[in-house]
Amino acid sequence: MELLVHGGAGAAPEEPDRRQRDLQRAVQQGQGCDTVLAAVGAAVRHLESAPPFNAGVGGAVQSDGTVRTDAGVMDSDGVCGAACAMPGVEHAVEVARVVAEETPHVCVAGDRAVDLAAASDIGTDRDLWTERTRERWREAGMPAGVPVRDQLAAVHEHFGGTDTVGAVATDGDRLAAATSTGGRWFALAGRVGDVPQVGAGFYATGEAAASATGEGEAIARFGLARRAVTAVADGDDPSTAADRVVRGFEAETGGRAGLIVTDLGGRTGSAFNTEAMGTAASTAD
Ligand code: ASP
Repeated sequence: MELLVHGGAGAAPEEPDRRQRDLQRAVQQGQGCDTVLAAVGAAVRHLESAPPFNAGVGGAVQSDGTVRTDAGVMDSDGVCGAACAMPGVEHAVEVARVVAEETPHVCVAGDRAVDLAAASDIGTDRDLWTERTRERWREAGMPAGVPVRDQLAAVHEHFGGTDTVGAVATDGDRLAAATSTGGRWFALAGRVGDVPQVGAGFYATGEAAASATGEGEAIARFGLARRAVTAVADGDDPSTAADRVVRGFEAETGGRAGLIVTDLGGRTGSAFNTEAMGTAASTAD
């Protein structure tokens, strides 16, 4: 099983060594799995529990003071699902897998997605805030407990940030991608970005799999993950595809993003137009 994982495109991180260790452990978790879908699920699940990343515990908090999680998964057999806007759900990737593998749908949202998680023995009611969340919330001075329209000025002022997590995997026969996030910091309550949108935050076919990170609004408009997979299908190697697509993304949207890509042969590529994007891989490549 070959895996490549990312810990989000963004500013140069605090605690880079700790993050790198978590990324490497995520790869190891995935390598022990029997299927590509289980592999990306296990890798992302590990990162959802790691506080430095914007997914699960440590996820970005929305304008009403709630962390809502989103995730999407897809494999080359067309198994595809997502779950979004889930307060208190640490392992959004597991809910996305339930949607993909046990429902006829591609996305379930909000309180009903939390109900689905609880009914599937996936933990709910988790406190996803960390000390860093409390600090950021205090510094931003978000107006808590006010009507949604009165939150908008602060949203415009403070909205931003990245650090979503994702993984791509291949076993030589199949490919899969998974991405998970708390969204972007201080977004309007209920905002959903690219991560649970098929072809935006994640995508997989028989040729390649990709996971994206960055400014979700621009990523969703552009269809970043799908474009990377299509570039491989059209003949690029994954590295060229990632570079070319991130450059095209920047030229067309002016946005900031990162991307990881693998093909069936386990060749990998990554690219970002932010300051940094942490990755770890099972191969030297
Ligand atoms: N893409 C994510 C979102 O917009 C943010 C991130 O990559 O950290 O929800």
